[in-house]
Amino acid sequence: MLVKILGSSAAEGWPAVFCACDVCRKARALGGKNIRTRASLLLNGAVKVDLPPDTLYHVHKYALDLSGLRHLFFTHTHEDHFAVSELQYWVEPFAYRDIAPLDIWGSPDATAMTRAFLRRMEVGKDDLSPFRLHSLNPFETAEADGIRVTPIIAHHKDNELCFNYIFEQAGRSFLYTCDSGWYQDPRTWGYLEGVRLDMLLCECTYGPASAPWNGHFGFGDVLRLRDKLRKLGAFSDGRVITTHFSHGCKALHEELESLFNPKGVEVGFDGMEIELA
Ligand SMILES: [Zn+2]
Ligand SMILES: [Zn+2]
Ligand SMILES: [Zn+2]
Repeated sequence: MLVKILGSSAAEGWPAVFCACDVCRKARALGGKNIRTRASLLLNGAVKVDLPPDTLYHVHKYALDLSGLRHLFFTHTHEDHFAVSELQYWVEPFAYRDIAPLDIWGSPDATAMTRAFLRRMEVGKDDLSPFRLHSLNPFETAEADGIRVTPIIAHHKDNELCFNYIFEQAGRSFLYTCDSGWYQDPRTWGYLEGVRLDMLLCECTYGPASAPWNGHFGFGDVLRLRDKLRKLGAFSDGRVITTHFSHGCKALHEELESLFNPKGVEVGFDGMEIELA
């Protein structure tokens, strides 16, 4: 499975849209891996995780051809992951190609919001035929283009069922913990006890700082999760990669690396590709 990190920032991007703080100024001046866009993954070029407002920029920056996109998985409906208005451009007269339906997956909350938007915008008319919406139940595995996808219950929004996902292909799997704080639902821990993960791709919104509220991770939480999963027998010595950074964490890419790398944790960046084989 080829995993590409299309975007590695938290909601506001980095440099943030309207920010003049020190780290945003430095990031603007340094460029490179300090430029982070809103979080999304692309798996094998055909399965996408989340639809951030920077999707068109990702298409241009990486020369992506998303006309062949087959599956879209939503983690939750915060705007930085759920720019659902982009879906109106899936159909004519905004897109011309042999249209295969796009399979859209998420929690019942996410699919209900997607359906309501598509109806309101009259995208796909009454039958929504350009799209197939699938509500997922936690811990029930779906299959998407040869990838097995299992949602687990994240801890992120009080009024919505939010998902983190485990992706698996050819016996290799990884957990994408974006977005979440420390898991509160015992069913999540119970499920994780029975899995074997080869990689952790962890959100680290607060960077080296500790999390001021339990809806996101700081670096300490990433280490704690790695240790806990090791204790559960769910993970051993695979790669641990961080993403979804906020400029509020105040550490630039190289500074993050100098803090994280000695602990065996990599710092993700926009455009990073990981071959899980
Ligand atoms: Zn987010
Ligand atoms: Zn800033
Ligand atoms: Zn969020």
